[in-house]
Amino acid sequence: MKVLKFGGTSMGSSSAIINVKRIVEHMDQPVVVVVSAVGGVTDKLIQLSKLAVNNEDYLPLLHQIEVIHSTIIKELFTPAAGKTVEAISLQVWQELKQVIQGVSLTQELSTKSYDTISGCGERLSAIILSELIDKAKVYDSRLFIKTEINGRGHHVKLNETLQSIGELKFSLAPISVFPGFIASNEKGEHTTLGRGGSDYSAALLASGLEAEMLEIWTDVDGFMSADPRVIRRAYCLEQLSYSEAMELSHFGAKVIYPPTIIPALQKQIPIKIKNTFNPSAPGTLINGQKDNHKRVKGLSSIRDVSLLTVQGNGMIGISGISMRMFKALAQHNVNIILISQASSESSISIVINAADAEMAKLALIKEFETEINRKEINGVAIDKQMAVVAIVGEGMKHTSGVSGQLFNSVGRNGINIYAIAQGASELNISFVIHENDLRKTLNVVHEAFFLSQYQAIHMYQVGVGNVGKNLLEKIERQSERLMKTEHLSIRLAGLANSKQMAFNDRGLELDSAIELLQEAPQSSIDQFVDQIIANNLSNSVFVDCTASDLVAKQYQKLLENNISVVTANKIAGSSAYSIYEKHKKTAIQKGVKYLFETNVGAGLPIINTINGMVQSGDRILQLEAVLSGTLNYIVNNVSTDRPLSEVVIEAKEKGFSEPDPRIDLKGTDVLRKLLILARESDYALEEHHVDIQPFVPESYFSDEPVEDFIQRLKSYDKKFEEMRSKAEGQDKVLRYAASLKEGRAKVGFIEVDANHPFYNLADSNNKVMLRSDYYYDHPMEIKGYGAGADVTAAGLFADIIKVVNL
Ligand code: ADP
Ligand code: ASP
Ligand code: MG
Repeated sequence: MKVLKFGGTSMGSSSAIINVKRIVEHMDQPVVVVVSAVGGVTDKLIQLSKLAVNNEDYLPLLHQIEVIHSTIIKELFTPAAGKTVEAISLQVWQELKQVIQGVSLTQELSTKSYDTISGCGERLSAIILSELIDKAKVYDSRLFIKTEINGRGHHVKLNETLQSIGELKFSLAPISVFPGFIASNEKGEHTTLGRGGSDYSAALLASGLEAEMLEIWTDVDGFMSADPRVIRRAYCLEQLSYSEAMELSHFGAKVIYPPTIIPALQKQIPIKIKNTFNPSAPGTLINGQKDNHKRVKGLSSIRDVSLLTVQGNGMIGISGISMRMFKALAQHNVNIILISQASSESSISIVINAADAEMAKLALIKEFETEINRKEINGVAIDKQMAVVAIVGEGMKHTSGVSGQLFNSVGRNGINIYAIAQGASELNISFVIHENDLRKTLNVVHEAFFLSQYQAIHMYQVGVGNVGKNLLEKIERQSERLMKTEHLSIRLAGLANSKQMAFNDRGLELDSAIELLQEAPQSSIDQFVDQIIANNLSNSVFVDCTASDLVAKQYQKLLENNISVVTANKIAGSSAYSIYEKHKKTAIQKGVKYLFETNVGAGLPIINTINGMVQSGDRILQLEAVLSGTLNYIVNNVSTDRPLSEVVIEAKEKGFSEPDPRIDLKGTDVLRKLLILARESDYALEEHHVDIQPFVPESYFSDEPVEDFIQRLKSYDKKFEEMRSKAEGQDKVLRYAASLKEGRAKVGFIEVDANHPFYNLADSNNKVMLRSDYYYDHPMEIKGYGAGADVTAAGLFADIIKVVNL
């Protein structure tokens, strides 16, 4: 025999109920069917009782509930059969109306009336289903499921209940239908098993009847790795142990009502979670098997809780404090969800439902009045609007590193943890956070244990010029591969230019984001950053594809708010050393990334290489480099027939140079790169330490428009050609180089002959030579194409991916 329970959504409409009928009739053995009220009806009945007790007009709502049922009946039955169903249901309606009227007249809502009213939904749905299914017979669960008062709720009298159900075993019809949720007490009064309690009714029946299987039919494919309404990437679990299911449901996984597991566990009856709307899906099996392969099976959460902390040095070493605390709370029927005590014993924190918080606080203050007066206890603090998150899995037992991985991922996303609890059973680690961080936390944790098929990076990009555009195209082109091979999805959560911004948490369409931006409202970079912080999305990264100092000024705020920064903009890294250092330190402290590989040599792995050397204990002793692809291109292309100004125009048109080529020609760009390389090599270099010879003499620069400057440059063509041909006459070439040697930093022209490593450096190639302790006689050389939007975007892309790596 099997027990099948159909929840509110499975009974939510006539078409859903037809599915139920089909599923039941397909069974090849006797079945006991337990039904919930029609979806939403219990809520409405409770609302009805509240209207009545407040003497408000409840009739429209009552009428609405009647219409819901009569519509379903009309849709499912012929008029004649429908009349029969209505006639059988009449008694329930009469009782409901009588009780409601009583509540309204007396303006008193006793537990008995409340339970009678809220339990009517199940009685009605059971009648409908039993009339719809051939040969089905409806039973009154209240005759078998017995409760007694315990604390604030009803408690099932287990032995008595199981015995009376057991006595039914041989007299049941092949298809017997029981209303879920409802029960009665020793006086025969109506009671219920608590919200979601139909699952429990079914488990009690399964246990009493010693069924071979308990099936919980609902509206999802099974028990998922997390609440599918919050984590879209949650997936269905094949199997869970009873303990895992119990822990997950206790901590908020609504798919099964927590007490349900106990009767099934006691008789070792397997439970299956199945989808009424997709019956062929295998569902989730809950049984005694402990599968230790996966460390963490799933996560769940409870919101609307408060954290109460009793703190004081007078508690240290004193026994009985926690006992008194729990006793005081128990006297007020306060349910404790989680307990955490610091090993110093100077504080005890508990999590309780928010609704109980004020009352609990008063109870504790009263209990510890003497200690508070003596200042041994500081008082009782409440943190409101909290949430508890729990990760669960049998495989966590005796496995190290689970909490490390958990708190690392949570921490680097800037989520503050208020309290932590891990039971000695090691089946569950739970922790308390602010409710505002709940969605983010669940996403981050779900990803951290690869419960998701992929990790999501939320990217916010500023700048849609050559590099910015190229980056978006690259991400779009690569997204499928990233998902397949790296299990990574980059979502463009926000895009801005200097005037407008657009957002979408789920990701803007990459191919139309720029057009969308053009229609977006006016905004400023401050607004963009504030919105990013407010969005509070997991693995957020700010990508700067501008050359703007206004944007660079935002990094500190972003990093402080646990948002990684990836930038092609050199301004921050090359401004005052103290700013550079502060950004780096903040990133480390917050556990986020601050990456700027593209600041030097575009996509070439120069900064990464230096970082690797320094981290392994090597010291960079000397640095010599050709760092400007643009200037090298210019040097290589000026000839007797091609003057400097013409090549500058070409470099600008090809997008090699900075938008304002003066930044290159002044030597500023190379200077900035040298500063960044030196700093990454552990030298606190400042701009004024660098001896700089501009590419074009200082006197050619003023604040005029770019076009005017280029005109003026023509008058320098001849001088430059003289310098170039002089070197050529000696079989040498000019290189505009940067160096850091023996404590001296220089940027300027050098003339090199054929033996020099910089001699053969065609087009816009870059080259960096590093002499270090380990690479002294034969310096390390990194060479390659170092300019242009394409390689810069590629470098940014590589940095963005690193955001999720530890
Ligand atoms: P029923 O009416 O069938 O009893 P419930 O609404 O009580 O259904 O429970 C099913 C719902 O539980 C699902 O629709 C889903 O939104 C929610 N849920 C929360 N956590 C989980 C989880 N871990 N796995 C599956 N469903 C979950
Ligand atoms: N109908 C009840 C409720 O909504 C019981 C249940 O569906 O499990 O809480
Ligand atoms: Mg339910």
